[in-house]
This record gives sequence, C-alpha cells and structure tokens, in this order.
Amino acid sequence: MYLPYGINEQGQLIYIESVGRGKTTLRCPYCVMPLIARKGTKIAPHFAHAGKTCREARRSTETVALPIYDSFRLHLSGKVWEALRRFHDDDDDSDCYWLEDYGVVKSFITPYGNERYNLTHKGKIPFGDLSLNLFNQFQEPLIREQHDKLELAALAALCTVEESTALTDLALFRAQMRRILETTLYFIEVRTSAGSLHKIGVTTRPLEKRLAEIRADLMPHFGSVELAPLGTWAHRGNVELYFKHRYRRFQKPIATLTEYFAFEDVKAVLRDLRRMKPKGLDETEQAILAGESSRVERYELNPAEMLSEQAWQLLVNFSSDKAKQNFEVRLELQSHRLGKRARPLVEFASGFPELRLEITDYGHAYQERFIDQYQRMYAADITESV
Ligand SMILES: [Zn+2]
Repeated sequence: MYLPYGINEQGQLIYIESVGRGKTTLRCPYCVMPLIARKGTKIAPHFAHAGKTCREARRSTETVALPIYDSFRLHLSGKVWEALRRFHDDDDDSDCYWLEDYGVVKSFITPYGNERYNLTHKGKIPFGDLSLNLFNQFQEPLIREQHDKLELAALAALCTVEESTALTDLALFRAQMRRILETTLYFIEVRTSAGSLHKIGVTTRPLEKRLAEIRADLMPHFGSVELAPLGTWAHRGNVELYFKHRYRRFQKPIATLTEYFAFEDVKAVLRDLRRMKPKGLDETEQAILAGESSRVERYELNPAEMLSEQAWQLLVNFSSDKAKQNFEVRLELQSHRLGKRARPLVEFASGFPELRLEITDYGHAYQERFIDQYQRMYAADITESV
C-alpha cells in the first residue's frame, strides 16, 4: 500500500503533504520503523520504509485507501479494462455480455427487440463521463461502507493479535475521511493579460488566504492577475481529483502547477459543479471531522455487544462447576461473538477424565480490556435498583 501517513513522536498521524521529500523523523504506523517521503512525479506522494517494508504495509493499497478517490480505473484487470475501453472508444460491444458481471455495463432491449448495452454510472467513471453530482452519489456510500467494514473488523480484532493492525487500518482510513471532509472545494476564474483560465482546488483555510498565495504563484508567469471566485463547496475534498480526471483534456499546466484549465465552455463546467447537492454530515462524519476516535478505538462496546450481568459475573468469578450448572450463561460465554466473529470466552478443555470448562486466552484478554466498562455499566444498574 502507499502509506499516506506516518506517526510522529507523540503518536499523531502526519500527512505526507505536510512534510518535505526524503528522510523524515516519522515512523510507520504499523511497525514503527523509520520512513522516507517519496515525492516523485509518476505516483502520488507516499511514505516508504527506510529499511524493509513491513508485512502490513505490503498489503494491497485498497485496504485503507479511500474508494475511487485518486484512482479511477476501478481496479479492473487488464482484460476487463481493455474490453471496457473498446466498448467506450470503438462501440465494440462483443465483450459486453460478460462485462455486465463487473457492473460497468447494463443491457437493454431496443424497440426493435435487439439487445444493446449502456455504461452504468460505475462504468462511466474511468472515462470521467459521470457528472460530479452522480460521482458523489456513487462514491459517498462506498467510503462509508469501507469505513464501517474496517470498524467492524477492528471490533472483531480487539483482544487478539490482529488488534493493533486493525486499529491502525481504521485510524488511517478515518484520517483520510477527515481530510476530505475538512476541505472546501473552490473554483475560481483567473484573469490574466493573456486571457482567462480556471482553477480547481481545495483548502482548509479561509479562501482569501488561499487567493493571496495563488496570486503569488502566478506572478512569475503572468505578472499580476485578477481572481474571481465562482463557487465554494464545503466538505467536498473528495471531488477535486475526480474533477481533474473528468476535465483532464482541458488541463493547462503552468510549469509544475496542475490545477489550471482552459475550458471551451465554462458554463457547462459550472453547471456540473453547481448540481452537486450540499454535503450533509451524519453523526459519524461529524465525529470524524471533529477529530474524535471511533468507539472501537476507545474500546467501547455497544449495549447490544455486552454480556448479560450474569455472564459477566461468571466470567470474573469463574469456576468450571458453576459454568456447568448454568447452561444458558455458559452458552452465552461459549458462543460469544464480537464484530460478527465467533470469539468464545470459555471452552471445554480437552483433558480426561473430567470434562472441564476454562476461560480462553481471548476471554482473559477480554476481561482485562473491558472491566472498566462493565463495572460502570453494572454498578450503575445496581445503584438504580436500590
Ligand atoms: Zn511498517
């Protein structure tokens, strides 16, 4: 994977864009080995290990990357991609019957009874043919799904050897979500003595401050320029790279600056931008934006995930005989699940002559991890009933 974050001495995640290239004092969030910042021109800036890359960082980039954020090929294999490209560029639909399985094309029947194919919303993304509004509608649920999947995986990994990796995966993903939620997308007109250009960009600061920097950036190329903001869209950092992809034909690089465009029909571009619905933030997104950690990172169980009071009592005052006497409570401990995974807290020991129940390693770790929460929960209940 391309690591977008390293950790500093305080354990905070530091984004690649906020450090210079080369050696850093940052460390890998997974294995805590030193990192160097890679900032070439071919692939997106990322951290690499100064020494050997750890096992966790050798996993697929998809593990913690925002879905369809900086790569729009949908991770299609070469063969699928080629077939899709032939359909899009050359109207060759001979492979469409199996492309349909990838959700990139959909068949329909013409009034003459012939079967034809259209690109789906998903299928339009690699070509930038999907509008910004529909792109948001397609991407946002995927980001949320990926977040919830990582959170559930982290919950299931608590108290196991996978805990630290799973929590780091979740933290990296939330950090990236925070970054796109805290940024405002802006679109401005740049009037130069040589005509008009447009610029797309994102900022976390007031636009005024950004405008001053843009004027300074452009000074060596055009002298003084006039800037006219045409719109800002809060929490829409997710759109910037797709916008560049969608309008790549109109990109007009100025030295190393890549955010400038010379549009033939800027009104159509503005319509595309303005059709985006204002981004509403749900509870999870608000918490992420505020920099709060997930309840799983704080080792908090939901009431529905907690043991009954009897089961907890048995676990902390465990004896095999008591467990055997109380079938229901024993079953609760034996068939305990967390994050949809079976995580037995007690099990039958495989010893003769007597069948004994004992607490699993997981059960011991579980008890230690959650004792505070259980004490708060059940002590409070007891006080109420008095
Ligand atoms: Zn590492």
